Amino acid sequence: DVRVRFCPSPTGNPHVGLVRTALFNWAFARHHGGSLVFRIEDTDAARDSEESYEQLLDAMRWLGLDWDEGPVAFDGSGEGEVGPHGPYRQSQRMDIYRDVAAKLREAGYAYPCYCTAQELEERRDAARAAGKPSGYDGKCRDLNDGEIAAYEAEGRSHIIRFRMPDEPITFTDLVRGELTFAPENVTDYGIVRANGAPLYTLVNPVDDALMEITHVLRGEDLLSSTPRQIALYKALTELGLAKATPAFGHLPYVMGEGNKKLSKRDPQSSLNLYRERGFLREGLLNYLSLLGWSISEDRDIFSLDEMVAAFDIADVNANPARFDLKKCEAINATHLREMPVADFAAACEPWLKAPYAPWKPEDFDRAAFEELAPLAQTRLTVLSDITANVDFLFLPEPAVDEASWAKAMKPGAVELLGTAREKLAAAEWKAEPLKEAVLAAGEEHGLKLGKAQAPVRVAVTGRTVGLPLFESLEVLGRERTLERVDAALA
Ligand code: GLU
Repeated sequence: DVRVRFCPSPTGNPHVGLVRTALFNWAFARHHGGSLVFRIEDTDAARDSEESYEQLLDAMRWLGLDWDEGPVAFDGSGEGEVGPHGPYRQSQRMDIYRDVAAKLREAGYAYPCYCTAQELEERRDAARAAGKPSGYDGKCRDLNDGEIAAYEAEGRSHIIRFRMPDEPITFTDLVRGELTFAPENVTDYGIVRANGAPLYTLVNPVDDALMEITHVLRGEDLLSSTPRQIALYKALTELGLAKATPAFGHLPYVMGEGNKKLSKRDPQSSLNLYRERGFLREGLLNYLSLLGWSISEDRDIFSLDEMVAAFDIADVNANPARFDLKKCEAINATHLREMPVADFAAACEPWLKAPYAPWKPEDFDRAAFEELAPLAQTRLTVLSDITANVDFLFLPEPAVDEASWAKAMKPGAVELLGTAREKLAAAEWKAEPLKEAVLAAGEEHGLKLGKAQAPVRVAVTGRTVGLPLFESLEVLGRERTLERVDAALA
């Protein structure tokens, strides 16, 4: 059975790189009918926060990336954890790590290292200066009891170091193919700090082993820890603590502005921003799936179900992917256009209220909104755009954009508007006759429809761009339209 994991550390806000990793693991699990384990790597009390943990749960739920095992149920129904391999928060597994570290040490797979930070640095610098590999030099590898006692007597503290084998480590990366790491580049590494706190290097593979993870799909930044983890896995297997070493696949880097790696701190990478702007989960996930994967050469719009059906880790590209906000927006706009209009209207709901909407709740008219919703649907990039598109309906006066006003109210505009006012007042209040009225007004002033409708639009909606004008006027109604034109003429 396929078992994958998504195991973020709860620091900061969720970012798109993290979501890409979650998505690929989820799609892989669902494609193979396997399980997604959601584990929280919160062993760093100084950096982890409960708020960040809550945000992770909330993000996964919003995205619809359901997990099968984790610290709480995906559907939020119960408080308790789900799955037989818990606890799923590493902060609650400290006894396990202590126990495994002791076993590794007893069996000689790990050893205490008394080198001080300063000593390590001096030897590293010397090795570098001599053009030699600068990893740990093995000084404490084979201390005898007397040497250990002497260090202890000196009052030195020790970390626990894992003993790497002396031969190369080769594995087949699911994305990159066969990779080999030479022993001089992967030297003995710390697994427990001097204060007894276990490190990522220990807890991550130990939990993967105990949780029987079969495939580790994660970012390329973690590639260098893979040979270490494979060696540790071998030790765990020999100790009867691991069943089999998982397969590893490293997802490509995501590049942002200026071809630099997209950083967590880059505003473009904050998931909350996408939620607030009103991206659809399907649109955002569709785009993020393209960061390293493609469904076929000529297609970039698809549903999550289609992604799951087609997802093959062998199709992931090892080359860095480029994050392109414009493309992300375009894909979202397509998903918006393609949804049933009732779903679209329902999805707009949060942006029709405070704090997004500038109108008073009692001024909101649902029937009027629903009349214009189909027109808005084809024009929006993100759901939050809805507010500016319909605010003219629900505000007592249009929110005037000064630049638009100046642009539309050129010399002659007032005269045109006067004529248009007369003709509108006389017209049947339906989009088509209203258009005829403005067309006729334009003709009298030698203006084509496009030029003639600009002053009308800015007088009524406050902007030069927006939903189709005559449908908007129809919904706004005769009285309010004429009032606004009069106000503009006054
Ligand atoms: N907690 C680690 C991180 O967020 C997990 C890395 C891994 O997938 O092994 O970077």
